[in-house]
Amino acid sequence: MTISFASGKGGAGKTFLSAHSLDFFLKKGTKVALADLDVEEPNSKIFFDIEDLSKKEAFAYVPEFIKENCTECNRCLGLCKFNAFTKLPGSAIIFKQMCHDCGLCYYACKNGAIVRTKMRIGEVKSYNYNGAKIFEGLLDIGMEQGVVLIKQVKKEALAEELELLIQDSAPGTSCSFVETISESDITFMSIEDSPMGIHDGEIAIKVLEEMKKDFYIIINKDIESNYSQGFRKKFNEKIIATIPEKKEIASRYAEKKLSPEDADIKKAMNEIFSIVEKKRGEKK
Ligand code: SF4
Ligand code: SF4
Repeated sequence: MTISFASGKGGAGKTFLSAHSLDFFLKKGTKVALADLDVEEPNSKIFFDIEDLSKKEAFAYVPEFIKENCTECNRCLGLCKFNAFTKLPGSAIIFKQMCHDCGLCYYACKNGAIVRTKMRIGEVKSYNYNGAKIFEGLLDIGMEQGVVLIKQVKKEALAEELELLIQDSAPGTSCSFVETISESDITFMSIEDSPMGIHDGEIAIKVLEEMKKDFYIIINKDIESNYSQGFRKKFNEKIIATIPEKKEIASRYAEKKLSPEDADIKKAMNEIFSIVEKKRGEKK
């Protein structure tokens, strides 16, 4: 079973919650792993005393133009929907970072002038924390194939014999978020009690609803603000826990430490645990 933590915006607490969940499920004896899919800035591991396990290069496939083979037939003209391949008279411009490897340009060219080549995009790493694995993808600077890398991290993590995979999503509602939640059984949204937290969180929730995904909400850094009242009313049935803004939690966070003994975090973790266990029961 796979669960994800997402937030709509950065700094709203999704990594904080996914790290607490790894710790919580591990203590409950669940065969669990954490996949950090925030591949531009993976940082879930900072909360744990880890040992390195593995490091593999990750690759994407991109086109290369072989000028000598080109007959100027123009079958490839204007085909690329991602503006990664542009045919010009006598040449071609390729923005490899923008290629989604859809295959259309290779398919269109019957003369072997567009060939599929391998390009390094980053690394997939794994670590051990108390017998649980933490996986992460780290995208090379300047690369834009986050989704390709996320798929590779997921594949690596799902090859393990697990009862539960916890995924930490990238912030926002980009393709990376959609790829993360696409096969997730439940998504837990960490919604920060701030105007941006509510605004961006609602956009992410709309995506979840569009995709008909099961989701729940945890209000994080809760200050019971006026602007969050409408949101609370609207999603009342989906809100499973609130974690008030507390100096002690923030101080421990700044020291890269979790707060598993905090009463509100414990309550949130227990709620998450019972929802996951219920779903696991239904899936059996
Ligand atoms: S493989 Fe698809 S996305 Fe990549 S350059 Fe060709 S047409 Fe564009
Ligand atoms: S389809 Fe191939 S041969 Fe035709 S113009 Fe494009 S690259 Fe050249």
